[in-house]
Amino acid sequence: MKKINPATITSYSQFGYVKVPKTIQYECPRCLKMGSIELKANSYQSNHNELLLSKGKCNNCNKTSEFVIATPSGTSKGQNQTATNVYIYDTRGGEHPLDQLKNNEKIPKDLIRAFHSALNVYESKDYSATAVMSKRVLESVAKSFIGEESFNQSLTQQFEELPKYVDFSKPMVSLSHLLNGNGEFNKILDLEHEMDDETAELVIDMLEALIEYLFILPQRIENAQKKIEQRVGRKSVVRDLQIK
Ligand SMILES: [Zn+2]
Repeated sequence: MKKINPATITSYSQFGYVKVPKTIQYECPRCLKMGSIELKANSYQSNHNELLLSKGKCNNCNKTSEFVIATPSGTSKGQNQTATNVYIYDTRGGEHPLDQLKNNEKIPKDLIRAFHSALNVYESKDYSATAVMSKRVLESVAKSFIGEESFNQSLTQQFEELPKYVDFSKPMVSLSHLLNGNGEFNKILDLEHEMDDETAELVIDMLEALIEYLFILPQRIENAQKKIEQRVGRKSVVRDLQIK
């Protein structure tokens, strides 16, 4: 996630009491071209932690990027305020998400291959092949944690079992160690000790990752899943009606 420089926000729209960015001049994370990203007015979603999620389309590639907008405090009291703390979900770190995957030793090679093929067939609009490859990606994700035992299970069983094999709480437990009361890091946070520039950069990096892990990623998965359910549900209703 990267913070958007408020100077690059060229227009705003009104959302409740908050003025939220409408267009942003930004180098699109998808096509890497400098252009104008227009945030969709109807894609805002209020989150319990006063974060708004929004989507914006690039005027060059027409692809969508996700944004997080932190609402200024005091907006509930009815004052008009402008949201300037805006973040773009930019997975690049300077490169294509696939390149990041390729350089990650922890991700199994067959998973990367399957995902790569899924992206390729999707981009060439071959949706049957996309379905086949998407299933392979899901199987590969489950297999990489569950191992050979996954072969005898259905996909739904595999994903039900997954939390037994993946310790989703591990990042929080390690963070709790770091925040230990008498620890050096806690002294830095309480201003008893000074923070140097490299530590500051690492801390900001960790905060970004933490927000992604706890808020952005779960919401992304859930939103996509709900929309798929709605679409698939609608289609099956239409099919049933046609059969009758
Ligand atoms: Zn673009």
